[in-house]
Amino acid sequence: VGESYNLNLIGYTPGYREKITARHLQLLELQQALENNELFIMLQPKVELVSKKVAGFEALVRWRNSNGDYIPPDVFIPLAEASGLICSLDLHVLRLTFAAVKQLTDAGFELPVSFNASVSDLNNRDYTQEIFQAVKEHRVNPLLLDIEVTESQVMSDYRGFDALLRRFMALGMSVSIDDFGTGYSSLSHITKLPATTLKIDRSFVSGIEESEDDRHAVDMVAKIGQRFGYHIVAEGVETEAQCEWLRQVGCPVGQGYLFARPMTVDDVIAWLRTYP
Ligand code: C2E
Ligand code: CA
Ligand code: CA
Ligand code: CA
Repeated sequence: VGESYNLNLIGYTPGYREKITARHLQLLELQQALENNELFIMLQPKVELVSKKVAGFEALVRWRNSNGDYIPPDVFIPLAEASGLICSLDLHVLRLTFAAVKQLTDAGFELPVSFNASVSDLNNRDYTQEIFQAVKEHRVNPLLLDIEVTESQVMSDYRGFDALLRRFMALGMSVSIDDFGTGYSSLSHITKLPATTLKIDRSFVSGIEESEDDRHAVDMVAKIGQRFGYHIVAEGVETEAQCEWLRQVGCPVGQGYLFARPMTVDDVIAWLRTYP
């Protein structure tokens, strides 16, 4: 018993080798996919809850591997973050986002697009410079860009990221705090977040019908957030009942399957042409 206990401690559990090998292979495949331009983005609309007007989009990265299997970002983003691949992946997403903004604008839809950033991106000069350069060179209109970061990311290096995010805001970009409410002390930071927008986390929205606590949490964030001057977006809106509660508590914008799933940029343009 003693021996197997020790072996377990250093990680020699059955299947361990297979696991790291599979992980390693997947990482190599992801690297290759990135080089071969196989990663793409889909856009999911954000919708004004009263008027139903489209307020903007969020770019979400997608990977279909060479076998044709779809791999969800919740699997490969952590892999990319752990391996240092995330900056080149997100730089690619950034360029696809600029291209999407241009494609939408050219089609007559001047709407903002959000992109997700990780901590490593915010610390990476190539990544942040790409944003500043693209704006400086008029390759993208900063008013149509929104960067999504989580509160815990911001708080992991508040001094550094506060300055950086405020520079983005000074350009006219918006900054969204993603998954708001899931951090440790959201309310104590609410007065000093370097952000224009709070995105109420899906976990609260999905509880609206069953949980009075979740209803109160959504109500509170919508009211306090707006009192402090933030725009509010509710994420993961799936049902009419959730939408109705969000409207009742004055939450202006929602995103979720009730309105639309993430779509390719071409599909978004076709969708916008027949919307509503
Ligand atoms: P997130 O930023 O919170 O993105 C929202 C996720 O919720 C997306 O999942 C979206 O497809 C999903 N979603 C939207 N509406 C609904 C709904 O009504 N119901 C439900 N159940 N889900 C909904 P997705 O695309 O699988 O992305 C998962 C996470 O991966 C994202 O969460 C984000 O943290 C990360 N991610 C996605 N794209 C990127 C990227 O380009 N860069 C980085 N660094 N992270 C990304
Ligand atoms: Ca997001
Ligand atoms: Ca989110
Ligand atoms: Ca998230």
